[in-house]
Amino acid sequence: MNGRVDSGYKPIVVARVHEVALKGANRPWFMHTLVQNVEHALRDVPHERVRVRNTRLVIPIPGLETWPTVRERLSWVFGVANFSLALETGLRQEEIQAGLAKLMELLGPPSGSYRVRAKRTNKSYPLTSPELERELGQFIKDRTGAPVNLTEPDVTYQVEILYDRALVSGEAVKGPGGLPVGVSGRVVVLLSGGFDSPVAAYRMMKRGCFVTLVHFHAYPYVRPISIEKAVEIARHLGRYQPGVRLIVVPIGDAQREIALASQPALRVVLYRRLMMRIATAIAYEQGAGAVVTGESLGQVSSQTLENMRVIGAVTDLPLLRPLVGFNKDEILGEAIQIGTEPISRVPDDDCCTVFIPRHPATHATLAQAEEAEQAFDSQALVASSLAQRTDYQGDPATWDVTLALAAATR
Ligand code: ATP
Ligand code: MG
Repeated sequence: MNGRVDSGYKPIVVARVHEVALKGANRPWFMHTLVQNVEHALRDVPHERVRVRNTRLVIPIPGLETWPTVRERLSWVFGVANFSLALETGLRQEEIQAGLAKLMELLGPPSGSYRVRAKRTNKSYPLTSPELERELGQFIKDRTGAPVNLTEPDVTYQVEILYDRALVSGEAVKGPGGLPVGVSGRVVVLLSGGFDSPVAAYRMMKRGCFVTLVHFHAYPYVRPISIEKAVEIARHLGRYQPGVRLIVVPIGDAQREIALASQPALRVVLYRRLMMRIATAIAYEQGAGAVVTGESLGQVSSQTLENMRVIGAVTDLPLLRPLVGFNKDEILGEAIQIGTEPISRVPDDDCCTVFIPRHPATHATLAQAEEAEQAFDSQALVASSLAQRTDYQGDPATWDVTLALAAATR
Protein backbone atom coordinates (compact mmCIF):
# COMPACT_ATOMS: atom_id res chain seq x y z
CA MET A 1 0.00 0.00 0.00
CA ASN A 2 2.86 2.32 0.82
CA GLY A 3 4.41 3.72 -2.26
CA ARG A 4 1.21 3.73 -4.25
CA VAL A 5 1.06 7.50 -3.90
CA ASP A 6 4.62 7.94 -4.97
CA SER A 7 4.55 5.38 -7.75
CA GLY A 8 2.40 7.59 -9.96
CA TYR A 9 -1.32 8.14 -9.95
CA LYS A 10 -3.57 5.95 -11.94
CA PRO A 11 -6.88 7.75 -12.32
CA ILE A 12 -9.96 5.70 -11.64
CA VAL A 13 -13.53 6.38 -12.50
CA VAL A 14 -15.87 5.35 -9.71
CA ALA A 15 -19.50 4.80 -10.70
CA ARG A 16 -22.21 4.40 -8.07
CA VAL A 17 -25.54 2.67 -8.50
CA HIS A 18 -28.88 3.34 -6.86
CA GLU A 19 -28.87 1.41 -3.59
CA VAL A 20 -32.53 0.61 -3.83
CA ALA A 21 -31.94 -1.40 -6.98
CA LEU A 22 -29.38 -3.48 -5.18
CA LYS A 23 -31.65 -5.10 -2.65
CA GLY A 24 -32.43 -8.78 -2.85
CA ALA A 25 -31.14 -11.81 -4.65
CA ASN A 26 -30.85 -10.13 -8.03
CA ARG A 27 -27.92 -7.98 -6.99
CA PRO A 28 -25.08 -10.07 -8.47
CA TRP A 29 -26.91 -10.31 -11.78
CA PHE A 30 -27.73 -6.61 -11.72
CA MET A 31 -24.06 -5.74 -11.16
CA HIS A 32 -22.91 -8.27 -13.77
CA THR A 33 -25.26 -6.79 -16.37
CA LEU A 34 -24.19 -3.27 -15.47
CA VAL A 35 -20.51 -4.21 -15.86
CA GLN A 36 -21.19 -5.69 -19.29
CA ASN A 37 -23.09 -2.59 -20.38
CA VAL A 38 -20.32 -0.30 -19.16
CA GLU A 39 -17.76 -2.45 -20.97
CA HIS A 40 -19.83 -2.11 -24.13
CA ALA A 41 -20.16 1.66 -23.75
CA LEU A 42 -16.37 1.90 -23.33
CA ARG A 43 -15.46 -0.69 -25.96
CA ASP A 44 -13.32 1.75 -27.97
CA VAL A 45 -12.04 3.74 -24.99
CA PRO A 46 -8.77 2.69 -23.32
CA HIS A 47 -9.46 1.40 -19.80
CA GLU A 48 -8.72 -1.55 -17.57
CA ARG A 49 -11.36 -4.17 -16.90
CA VAL A 50 -14.39 -2.81 -15.01
CA ARG A 51 -14.47 -4.20 -11.47
CA VAL A 52 -17.19 -4.34 -8.83
CA ARG A 53 -16.37 -3.03 -5.36
CA ASN A 54 -19.32 -3.23 -3.00
CA THR A 55 -21.95 -1.03 -4.60
CA ARG A 56 -19.52 0.70 -6.94
CA LEU A 57 -17.93 0.05 -10.26
CA VAL A 58 -14.27 0.88 -10.45
CA ILE A 59 -12.82 1.67 -13.86
CA PRO A 60 -9.08 2.38 -14.01
CA ILE A 61 -8.19 4.62 -16.95
CA PRO A 62 -4.69 5.14 -18.32
CA GLY A 63 -4.68 8.91 -18.13
CA LEU A 64 -6.75 12.00 -17.67
CA GLU A 65 -7.19 12.51 -21.42
CA THR A 66 -9.73 9.66 -21.49
CA TRP A 67 -11.89 11.23 -18.78
CA PRO A 68 -14.05 13.45 -21.07
CA THR A 69 -15.00 10.47 -23.26
CA VAL A 70 -15.65 8.21 -20.28
CA ARG A 71 -17.74 10.98 -18.80
CA GLU A 72 -19.94 11.19 -21.88
CA ARG A 73 -20.27 7.41 -22.30
CA LEU A 74 -21.22 6.72 -18.68
CA SER A 75 -24.02 9.24 -19.01
CA TRP A 76 -25.59 6.78 -21.49
CA VAL A 77 -25.48 3.71 -19.22
CA PHE A 78 -28.70 3.07 -17.31
CA GLY A 79 -28.21 1.94 -13.73
CA VAL A 80 -25.39 4.44 -13.12
CA ALA A 81 -26.62 6.89 -10.45
CA ASN A 82 -23.52 9.08 -10.47
CA PHE A 83 -19.82 8.84 -11.10
CA SER A 84 -16.64 10.73 -10.52
CA LEU A 85 -12.97 10.82 -11.29
CA ALA A 86 -11.03 9.43 -8.34
CA LEU A 87 -7.56 8.49 -7.23
CA GLU A 88 -6.80 5.42 -5.20
CA THR A 89 -4.45 6.08 -2.29
CA GLY A 90 -3.11 4.32 0.76
CA LEU A 91 -4.96 4.63 4.06
CA ARG A 92 -2.54 6.91 5.89
CA GLN A 93 -3.64 10.50 6.20
CA GLU A 94 -0.61 11.86 4.32
CA GLU A 95 -1.39 9.51 1.48
CA ILE A 96 -4.99 10.67 1.33
CA GLN A 97 -3.83 14.31 1.42
CA ALA A 98 -1.34 13.69 -1.34
CA GLY A 99 -4.16 12.12 -3.37
CA LEU A 100 -6.37 15.18 -2.86
CA ALA A 101 -3.50 17.43 -3.88
CA LYS A 102 -2.98 15.40 -7.04
CA LEU A 103 -6.69 15.47 -7.84
CA MET A 104 -6.71 19.26 -7.60
CA GLU A 105 -3.65 19.32 -9.80
CA LEU A 106 -5.55 17.24 -12.40
CA LEU A 107 -8.99 18.89 -12.18
CA GLY A 108 -7.85 22.29 -10.97
CA PRO A 109 -8.48 23.83 -7.53
CA PRO A 110 -12.12 24.14 -6.43
CA SER A 111 -13.98 26.42 -8.85
CA GLY A 112 -15.76 28.06 -5.91
CA SER A 113 -16.70 26.97 -2.41
CA TYR A 114 -16.20 23.36 -1.43
CA ARG A 115 -16.70 20.76 1.22
CA VAL A 116 -15.27 17.33 1.93
CA ARG A 117 -17.58 14.39 2.53
CA ALA A 118 -16.04 11.34 4.13
CA LYS A 119 -17.53 7.87 4.28
CA ARG A 120 -16.02 4.89 6.06
CA THR A 121 -16.69 1.38 4.95
CA ASN A 122 -13.98 0.36 7.38
CA LYS A 123 -15.50 1.49 10.68
CA SER A 124 -12.33 0.74 12.67
CA TYR A 125 -10.45 3.53 10.90
CA PRO A 126 -8.82 5.74 13.59
CA LEU A 127 -10.56 8.95 12.48
CA THR A 128 -14.32 9.36 12.39
CA SER A 129 -15.96 10.74 9.25
CA PRO A 130 -16.48 14.26 10.72
CA GLU A 131 -12.85 14.30 11.89
CA LEU A 132 -11.66 13.29 8.44
CA GLU A 133 -13.85 15.94 6.83
CA ARG A 134 -12.43 18.65 9.10
CA GLU A 135 -8.79 17.59 8.65
CA LEU A 136 -8.99 17.26 4.87
CA GLY A 137 -11.09 20.40 4.53
CA GLN A 138 -8.40 22.33 6.35
CA PHE A 139 -5.76 20.75 4.12
CA ILE A 140 -7.54 22.07 0.99
CA LYS A 141 -8.04 25.49 2.59
CA ASP A 142 -4.33 25.73 3.38
CA ARG A 143 -3.39 24.86 -0.18
CA THR A 144 -5.95 26.84 -2.15
CA GLY A 145 -7.56 29.40 0.14
CA ALA A 146 -10.96 28.47 -1.32
CA PRO A 147 -13.96 29.06 0.97
CA VAL A 148 -15.66 26.17 2.73
CA ASN A 149 -19.42 25.89 2.37
CA LEU A 150 -21.00 22.96 4.16
CA THR A 151 -24.56 23.51 2.95
CA GLU A 152 -24.32 24.59 -0.71
CA PRO A 153 -20.81 24.01 -1.94
CA ASP A 154 -19.84 24.41 -5.61
CA VAL A 155 -17.61 21.35 -5.37
CA THR A 156 -17.80 18.31 -3.11
CA TYR A 157 -14.74 16.13 -2.62
CA GLN A 158 -15.47 12.64 -1.45
CA VAL A 159 -13.18 10.43 0.52
CA GLU A 160 -14.12 6.81 0.97
CA ILE A 161 -12.21 4.72 3.45
CA LEU A 162 -12.21 1.09 2.33
CA TYR A 163 -10.43 -1.75 4.12
CA ASP A 164 -7.19 -1.71 2.17
CA ARG A 165 -7.21 1.69 0.48
CA ALA A 166 -8.88 5.03 0.26
CA LEU A 167 -10.61 6.60 -2.71
CA VAL A 168 -10.41 10.31 -3.15
CA SER A 169 -12.84 11.68 -5.70
CA GLY A 170 -13.78 14.97 -7.29
CA GLU A 171 -17.25 16.24 -7.95
CA ALA A 172 -19.86 13.59 -8.77
CA VAL A 173 -21.43 13.75 -12.22
CA LYS A 174 -25.08 12.73 -12.35
CA GLY A 175 -25.71 9.50 -14.28
CA PRO A 176 -28.95 8.59 -16.04
CA GLY A 177 -30.19 6.32 -13.22
CA GLY A 178 -32.71 3.63 -14.02
CA LEU A 179 -31.93 -0.09 -14.32
CA PRO A 180 -29.23 -1.74 -16.45
CA VAL A 181 -30.56 -2.71 -19.87
CA GLY A 182 -31.25 -6.45 -19.77
CA VAL A 183 -32.34 -6.97 -16.17
CA SER A 184 -36.03 -6.54 -16.97
CA GLY A 185 -36.21 -8.81 -20.01
CA ARG A 186 -37.02 -8.00 -23.62
CA VAL A 187 -39.78 -5.95 -25.24
CA VAL A 188 -40.75 -5.12 -28.82
CA VAL A 189 -41.19 -1.38 -29.43
CA LEU A 190 -43.19 -0.13 -32.42
CA LEU A 191 -40.95 2.58 -33.82
CA SER A 192 -42.44 5.10 -36.24
CA GLY A 193 -40.49 8.05 -37.57
CA GLY A 194 -42.26 10.35 -35.11
CA PHE A 195 -41.23 12.00 -31.85
CA ASP A 196 -43.01 9.74 -29.41
CA SER A 197 -41.98 6.16 -30.04
CA PRO A 198 -38.20 6.82 -29.72
CA VAL A 199 -38.89 8.34 -26.31
CA ALA A 200 -41.04 5.31 -25.41
CA ALA A 201 -38.13 3.03 -26.42
CA TYR A 202 -35.71 5.09 -24.32
CA ARG A 203 -38.04 4.86 -21.33
CA MET A 204 -38.27 1.08 -21.61
CA MET A 205 -34.48 0.77 -21.89
CA LYS A 206 -34.20 2.92 -18.80
CA ARG A 207 -36.43 0.48 -16.92
CA GLY A 208 -33.97 -2.29 -17.79
CA CYS A 209 -35.61 -3.69 -20.93
CA PHE A 210 -33.68 -4.98 -23.87
CA VAL A 211 -35.55 -3.47 -26.81
CA THR A 212 -36.20 -4.85 -30.29
CA LEU A 213 -37.41 -2.03 -32.52
CA VAL A 214 -39.96 -2.74 -35.25
CA HIS A 215 -40.69 -0.25 -38.02
CA PHE A 216 -43.54 -0.59 -40.53
CA HIS A 217 -43.57 1.26 -43.84
CA ALA A 218 -45.48 1.41 -47.12
CA TYR A 219 -42.55 1.78 -49.52
CA PRO A 220 -42.73 1.59 -52.59
CA TYR A 221 -46.22 3.14 -52.33
CA VAL A 222 -44.70 6.10 -50.48
CA ARG A 223 -41.20 7.59 -50.23
CA PRO A 224 -38.62 5.64 -48.20
CA ILE A 225 -37.90 8.50 -45.77
CA SER A 226 -39.50 6.85 -42.73
CA ILE A 227 -37.16 3.85 -43.12
CA GLU A 228 -34.12 6.11 -43.22
CA LYS A 229 -35.37 7.88 -40.13
CA ALA A 230 -36.04 4.63 -38.28
CA VAL A 231 -32.51 3.43 -39.03
CA GLU A 232 -31.08 6.77 -37.84
CA ILE A 233 -33.15 6.68 -34.66
CA ALA A 234 -32.20 3.06 -33.95
CA ARG A 235 -28.52 3.93 -34.43
CA HIS A 236 -28.89 6.76 -32.00
CA LEU A 237 -30.76 4.65 -29.44
CA GLY A 238 -27.97 2.08 -29.79
CA ARG A 239 -25.84 4.22 -27.54
CA TYR A 240 -28.17 3.39 -24.64
CA GLN A 241 -28.38 -0.35 -25.28
CA PRO A 242 -25.67 -2.80 -26.28
CA GLY A 243 -26.69 -4.70 -29.38
CA VAL A 244 -29.65 -2.70 -30.60
CA ARG A 245 -31.84 -4.48 -33.12
CA LEU A 246 -34.25 -3.07 -35.73
CA ILE A 247 -36.71 -5.07 -37.80
CA VAL A 248 -38.17 -3.27 -40.83
CA VAL A 249 -41.43 -4.67 -42.20
CA PRO A 250 -43.10 -3.49 -45.44
CA ILE A 251 -46.88 -3.49 -45.12
CA GLY A 252 -47.85 -1.55 -48.28
CA ASP A 253 -49.11 -4.63 -50.12
CA ALA A 254 -51.09 -5.77 -47.09
CA GLN A 255 -52.53 -2.29 -46.67
CA ARG A 256 -53.63 -2.32 -50.29
CA GLU A 257 -55.51 -5.58 -49.73
CA ILE A 258 -57.13 -4.17 -46.61
CA ALA A 259 -58.07 -0.98 -48.45
CA LEU A 260 -59.67 -2.94 -51.29
CA ALA A 261 -61.82 -4.82 -48.79
CA SER A 262 -62.84 -2.11 -46.31
CA GLN A 263 -64.39 1.35 -45.91
CA PRO A 264 -62.01 4.31 -45.60
CA ALA A 265 -63.25 5.17 -42.11
CA LEU A 266 -62.07 1.82 -40.73
CA ARG A 267 -58.72 1.59 -42.46
CA VAL A 268 -56.44 3.31 -39.93
CA VAL A 269 -57.67 1.02 -37.19
CA LEU A 270 -57.34 -2.04 -39.43
CA TYR A 271 -53.77 -1.05 -40.37
CA ARG A 272 -52.97 -0.63 -36.69
CA ARG A 273 -54.40 -4.04 -35.87
CA LEU A 274 -52.22 -5.50 -38.62
CA MET A 275 -49.15 -3.78 -37.13
CA MET A 276 -50.03 -5.10 -33.70
CA ARG A 277 -50.46 -8.65 -35.00
CA ILE A 278 -47.08 -8.54 -36.75
CA ALA A 279 -45.38 -7.00 -33.70
CA THR A 280 -46.86 -9.75 -31.54
CA ALA A 281 -45.55 -12.46 -33.88
CA ILE A 282 -42.10 -10.87 -33.71
CA ALA A 283 -42.35 -10.62 -29.93
CA TYR A 284 -43.04 -14.34 -29.64
CA GLU A 285 -40.18 -15.14 -31.98
CA GLN A 286 -37.81 -12.92 -29.95
CA GLY A 287 -38.98 -14.14 -26.56
CA ALA A 288 -40.21 -10.65 -25.71
CA GLY A 289 -42.62 -10.23 -22.81
CA ALA A 290 -44.49 -7.15 -23.99
CA VAL A 291 -45.29 -4.86 -26.92
CA VAL A 292 -44.71 -1.12 -26.50
CA THR A 293 -46.05 1.92 -28.35
CA GLY A 294 -45.51 5.67 -28.05
CA GLU A 295 -49.20 6.42 -27.68
CA SER A 296 -50.35 9.12 -25.32
CA LEU A 297 -54.00 9.41 -24.43
CA GLY A 298 -55.91 12.00 -26.43
CA GLN A 299 -52.81 13.32 -28.20
CA VAL A 300 -54.36 12.85 -31.62
CA SER A 301 -57.95 12.03 -32.43
CA SER A 302 -57.06 8.36 -33.01
CA GLN A 303 -55.51 7.86 -29.57
CA THR A 304 -58.71 7.35 -27.64
CA LEU A 305 -59.45 4.68 -25.05
CA GLU A 306 -61.85 3.13 -27.55
CA ASN A 307 -59.18 2.83 -30.27
CA MET A 308 -56.64 1.55 -27.77
CA ARG A 309 -59.07 -1.21 -26.92
CA VAL A 310 -59.79 -2.13 -30.54
CA ILE A 311 -56.10 -2.15 -31.49
CA GLY A 312 -54.92 -3.82 -28.30
CA ALA A 313 -57.48 -6.61 -28.65
CA VAL A 314 -55.38 -8.46 -31.24
CA THR A 315 -52.45 -9.09 -28.91
CA ASP A 316 -52.38 -11.34 -25.87
CA LEU A 317 -49.13 -9.81 -24.64
CA PRO A 318 -49.08 -6.88 -22.23
CA LEU A 319 -49.31 -3.71 -24.34
CA LEU A 320 -47.26 -1.03 -22.63
CA ARG A 321 -47.60 2.69 -23.33
CA PRO A 322 -44.95 4.41 -21.25
CA LEU A 323 -46.00 7.88 -22.51
CA VAL A 324 -49.74 7.48 -21.97
CA GLY A 325 -49.89 10.28 -19.39
CA PHE A 326 -47.41 12.66 -21.00
CA ASN A 327 -48.13 15.94 -22.81
CA LYS A 328 -46.63 16.59 -26.21
CA ASP A 329 -44.26 19.26 -24.86
CA GLU A 330 -43.02 16.90 -22.16
CA ILE A 331 -42.31 14.24 -24.79
CA LEU A 332 -40.61 16.77 -27.07
CA GLY A 333 -38.45 17.99 -24.19
CA GLU A 334 -37.28 14.46 -23.57
CA ALA A 335 -36.72 13.80 -27.29
CA ILE A 336 -34.43 16.84 -27.35
CA GLN A 337 -32.59 15.63 -24.26
CA ILE A 338 -31.99 12.11 -25.59
CA GLY A 339 -31.05 13.41 -29.04
CA THR A 340 -33.76 11.87 -31.27
CA GLU A 341 -35.72 15.08 -31.86
CA PRO A 342 -33.66 16.36 -34.84
CA ILE A 343 -34.16 13.01 -36.62
CA SER A 344 -37.89 12.80 -35.86
CA ARG A 345 -38.42 16.38 -37.04
CA VAL A 346 -37.66 15.49 -40.68
CA PRO A 347 -40.99 15.26 -42.57
CA ASP A 348 -41.89 11.78 -43.85
CA ASP A 349 -44.81 9.81 -45.27
CA ASP A 350 -46.95 8.12 -42.65
CA CYS A 351 -47.92 4.63 -43.79
CA CYS A 352 -51.16 4.85 -41.85
CA THR A 353 -52.56 7.37 -44.32
CA VAL A 354 -51.97 5.41 -47.54
CA PHE A 355 -55.01 4.34 -49.52
CA ILE A 356 -57.21 6.68 -47.53
CA PRO A 357 -58.85 9.54 -49.48
CA ARG A 358 -58.88 11.98 -46.57
CA HIS A 359 -57.74 11.37 -43.01
CA PRO A 360 -61.02 10.35 -41.40
CA ALA A 361 -61.66 10.50 -37.69
CA THR A 362 -61.75 6.87 -36.66
CA HIS A 363 -63.78 5.56 -33.79
CA ALA A 364 -64.31 2.03 -34.87
CA THR A 365 -65.79 -0.42 -32.43
CA LEU A 366 -64.29 -3.83 -31.87
CA ALA A 367 -67.30 -5.44 -33.55
CA GLN A 368 -66.92 -3.24 -36.65
CA ALA A 369 -63.23 -4.03 -36.94
CA GLU A 370 -63.76 -7.76 -36.52
CA GLU A 371 -66.55 -7.74 -39.06
CA ALA A 372 -64.45 -5.84 -41.60
CA GLU A 373 -61.65 -8.36 -41.17
CA GLN A 374 -63.92 -11.15 -42.40
CA ALA A 375 -63.21 -9.81 -45.87
CA PHE A 376 -59.51 -10.73 -45.85
CA ASP A 377 -57.12 -13.21 -44.26
CA SER A 378 -55.27 -11.38 -41.47
CA GLN A 379 -52.89 -14.21 -40.69
CA ALA A 380 -51.88 -14.49 -44.35
CA LEU A 381 -51.15 -10.74 -44.41
CA VAL A 382 -49.01 -11.11 -41.29
CA ALA A 383 -47.06 -13.94 -42.92
CA SER A 384 -46.56 -12.24 -46.29
CA SER A 385 -45.43 -8.99 -44.62
CA LEU A 386 -43.00 -10.84 -42.38
CA ALA A 387 -41.60 -12.68 -45.39
CA GLN A 388 -40.33 -9.32 -46.69
CA ARG A 389 -38.80 -8.11 -43.46
CA THR A 390 -35.23 -6.93 -43.02
CA ASP A 391 -33.39 -7.55 -39.74
CA TYR A 392 -30.74 -5.10 -38.70
CA GLN A 393 -28.36 -6.11 -35.94
CA GLY A 394 -24.68 -5.95 -35.11
CA ASP A 395 -22.81 -2.67 -35.53
CA PRO A 396 -25.47 -0.03 -36.42
CA ALA A 397 -22.85 1.97 -38.35
CA THR A 398 -22.89 -0.77 -41.01
CA TRP A 399 -26.68 -0.90 -41.46
CA ASP A 400 -27.65 -0.44 -45.10
CA VAL A 401 -31.05 1.13 -45.84
CA THR A 402 -31.07 -0.17 -49.41
CA LEU A 403 -31.50 -3.73 -48.07
CA ALA A 404 -34.93 -2.83 -46.68
CA LEU A 405 -35.87 -1.10 -49.95
CA ALA A 406 -34.86 -4.14 -51.99
CA ALA A 407 -36.76 -6.47 -49.65
CA ALA A 408 -39.94 -4.41 -50.06
CA THR A 409 -39.91 -4.68 -53.85
CA ARG A 410 -38.84 -8.28 -54.09
P1 ATP B 1 -45.04 8.77 -32.93
O1 ATP B 1 -44.59 10.16 -32.61
O2 ATP B 1 -44.33 7.72 -32.14
O3 ATP B 1 -45.10 8.50 -34.39
P2 ATP B 1 -47.73 9.60 -33.00
O4 ATP B 1 -48.06 10.64 -32.02
O5 ATP B 1 -47.47 9.98 -34.42
O6 ATP B 1 -46.54 8.72 -32.42
P3 ATP B 1 -49.51 7.59 -33.99
O7 ATP B 1 -49.11 7.91 -35.37
O8 ATP B 1 -50.94 7.48 -33.64
O9 ATP B 1 -48.94 8.59 -32.91
O10 ATP B 1 -48.79 6.24 -33.57
C1 ATP B 1 -48.98 5.71 -32.30
C2 ATP B 1 -47.93 4.65 -32.06
O11 ATP B 1 -48.07 3.58 -32.99
C3 ATP B 1 -46.50 5.17 -32.26
O12 ATP B 1 -46.00 5.80 -31.11
C4 ATP B 1 -45.77 3.89 -32.58
O13 ATP B 1 -45.46 3.18 -31.39
C5 ATP B 1 -46.80 3.12 -33.38
N1 ATP B 1 -46.59 3.35 -34.81
C6 ATP B 1 -47.24 4.22 -35.62
N2 ATP B 1 -46.78 4.15 -36.87
C7 ATP B 1 -45.81 3.21 -36.89
C8 ATP B 1 -44.94 2.66 -37.89
N3 ATP B 1 -44.97 3.10 -39.14
N4 ATP B 1 -44.08 1.70 -37.53
C9 ATP B 1 -44.02 1.25 -36.27
N5 ATP B 1 -44.81 1.73 -35.28
C10 ATP B 1 -45.70 2.69 -35.57
MG1 MG C 1 -46.46 9.04 -35.89
